[in-house]
Amino acid sequence: MPEEKIGDNLSDVKTKNRSLVLRLVKKRGFLSRIELARITGLTQPTITNIVNDLIRAGLLIEVGTSDTRAGRKPILLAFNDQAFYVVAISFKKKGFTVALTDLGPNILYRRDSNYSLLENTEMALVELQKEFIHVLEYATQSLSLILGIGVSVPGPVDPESFTILAHPVFLAHRNLDLRPVLREYDLPIFMMNNAYAACLHETWGGKAKEAKNLIYFMVGETVGAGIMVDGKLYQGADQKAGEIGHTSINVFGPRCVCGNYGCMELYCSTKSAIEKALEAAWLGKSSFLKKRLREKENTLSFQDLLEGAKGNDPICKEIFASLGQYVGIGAVNLLNLYNPEVLVIGGEIALAREFIESSVQQVIEERLLYRDYTSSVIYYSQWGEDVTLLGAASLVLDHFIAGDLGRF
Ligand SMILES: [Zn+2]
Repeated sequence: MPEEKIGDNLSDVKTKNRSLVLRLVKKRGFLSRIELARITGLTQPTITNIVNDLIRAGLLIEVGTSDTRAGRKPILLAFNDQAFYVVAISFKKKGFTVALTDLGPNILYRRDSNYSLLENTEMALVELQKEFIHVLEYATQSLSLILGIGVSVPGPVDPESFTILAHPVFLAHRNLDLRPVLREYDLPIFMMNNAYAACLHETWGGKAKEAKNLIYFMVGETVGAGIMVDGKLYQGADQKAGEIGHTSINVFGPRCVCGNYGCMELYCSTKSAIEKALEAAWLGKSSFLKKRLREKENTLSFQDLLEGAKGNDPICKEIFASLGQYVGIGAVNLLNLYNPEVLVIGGEIALAREFIESSVQQVIEERLLYRDYTSSVIYYSQWGEDVTLLGAASLVLDHFIAGDLGRF
């Protein structure tokens, strides 16, 4: 690994200041040159130069005037989300998605595939290459504006070698190098565990843009957390930090695939909720679930459970209330461990907010340490399942705004 540079050359300072201005306008929305000078401490002429350069590069746009002051009204600047594009790829346990996004990031075009890397690696890689090329063809007029490829994966990755180290249902895949599949047009590739990517997305597109200490508690089919400390993602020595889903909450509980016993994921995941729903359907406790089970040839999904709860099925609502308690327990553990400014509850579970929120809140009120003087704020992610895909796009956005891609 090359030694880290300590000094700053003049060109580095220039990039650093541009990066700072872009970051501020992207995160805070409309700002004037005067406000930028005040916030950054840079002189007015310096800010004017930077802003002019960034307008010329198409990265900032002037969007009218501020009406807060009398006299000459300052012109407001906005970040141009359409200046560049990103290819975002998100792997799930079953299937994957390849999408083209702008710098919002907003999904402009997507290709969803049911091929699972876990179940049929070779076919999934062939399909991945196909879908990737589809997306590039869609973007054919703007290929030179694609900044890079962001990939989010449910498990640890080695960002240096572009390798998926293992899949959470465990170790079936070791060291899967994605480069041969994604080498078309030689775009830079960035990879990250999906909970970390989701955490990053909350700081770019979500409600936690200003948070320096943030936990993204992702509850879906699997359970994990993205941890941001002092504005930096904490990934651990081997990109394995945040595996709260595999902390034991019942030492006498059933054995988990990871080898541990009574892991949180066994109680607090969409998978565990679906298992309960199946049981209720088989036992005839819920006529809604029983009917749905028949219609869908003995399967049920999280979506079915949501529909049941929305239609006031008491069993579906009960399953969510119980799931909410476990989400609350996970939240308490994370709040006690990290004392973040913001804890985001995300992943698929966030779609069920209205059915879990009161149980989550009750557990936090009853069990959190020092609960009378805790300032941590709890948000529910607004992105649903797509958060890991948007996270993959945000990963590229993050590198771009840091100046790593040499595009400004
Ligand atoms: Zn486990």
